[in-house]
Amino acid sequence: MQRIVYPGSFDPPTYGHLNIIQRASRLFDMLEIVIADNKRKKYFFTADERFEMITEMVAGLHNVQVNLWNGLIVDFVSNVGARVILRGVRALSDFEYEFELSLINKGLNPQIETIFMPTDKKYFVLRSSAIKELAMFNGDVSSMVPPVVVRALKAKLNGS
Ligand code: ADP
Repeated sequence: MQRIVYPGSFDPPTYGHLNIIQRASRLFDMLEIVIADNKRKKYFFTADERFEMITEMVAGLHNVQVNLWNGLIVDFVSNVGARVILRGVRALSDFEYEFELSLINKGLNPQIETIFMPTDKKYFVLRSSAIKELAMFNGDVSSMVPPVVVRALKAKLNGS
């Protein structure tokens, strides 16, 4: 069984992430989403909130699983018996960062490969950080994130 692992912060998850998940889930038998919960990193949404949002977003995809992880991604990958990490790339600036990250992971575990999937052109400018800023200024983000995330952003920004 070909299993692929898609790690990220997903803070919050966007239609860009979902597009990568949908496309990759058609190519592999099983896709494991791994939500990073790095204790030293400051997130806007808690790990549980990010978990709930993504779980709702992928509810119709039967070969997709959602996980939380606070360790090295290569350790998660080998724990589940996978050998491939998936990362999405938008612009050239993404590529530089992703390329370095892939070399680091390769150094940590040479058995594990990283593959890159280019964004769909519709989602080229979607970035979680920009979406949070837009939402803070009451901008309409409904074309960028699913309704569950729109609701969560509103609730968070209203302090509820
Ligand atoms: P991280 O903090 O690990 O970069 P992100 O949630 O920002 O986590 O991104 C997770 C992965 O999804 C990264 O590989 C990122 O490049 C990719 N990604 C984010 N937004 C998009 C998008 N709009 N289109 C394609 N890939 C994306």
